[in-house]
Amino acid sequence: MTTKRSLPLDTVYRHAERLYPEECCGFIHADGHVHQGVNIQGQLHQREPELYSRTAENGYTLSIADTVALNKSFASPNPAHIIYHSHPDVGAYFSREDKHRALYMGEPIYPVQHLVIDVRSGRAQGAKLFAWDGHDFICLDEFA
Ligand SMILES: [Zn+2]
Repeated sequence: MTTKRSLPLDTVYRHAERLYPEECCGFIHADGHVHQGVNIQGQLHQREPELYSRTAENGYTLSIADTVALNKSFASPNPAHIIYHSHPDVGAYFSREDKHRALYMGEPIYPVQHLVIDVRSGRAQGAKLFAWDGHDFICLDEFA
C-alpha cells in the first residue's frame, strides 16, 4: 500500500509544470522511482485526428517505449505501483476518459493506482490518488 510519505510528489509536480499546457504522464515504481513518460497524444492527433480527437492538452498516451517499460516492470522486483498524468486547468478528477483507458472489458488493465495532478496556469496545485474498488475508481487520497 502506497503511503503519502513514499509518494515523490515534487518530481511529478515538476513534470506536470514543465509539460504545461500539455498533459504529462508516467509511472511510479514501488521504490518511489519516477519514470517520466513521453506523451505522444499530440502526434497521434496530428496523424489521425478522426481516430484520436484529443490533443496533448486534454489527453495522454504513453509512448511505445514507456508502455513496454511499464509492462516489463510488473515482472520485475520493482513494479510500477502508480500511473500518473496531469490535468491542465480542469482540476484533478478521474474522468470518463481516464476510466475508459484504465479498463479493459470492465477490469483494470494494470494492477496500479492512478494519480491525477491538478496543474493551473503552469503551477501544480495538488493531486488525487484513485484506486479500483472492484466496481469503480474511488479517490483514496488527496494531496496539496
Ligand atoms: Zn485524465
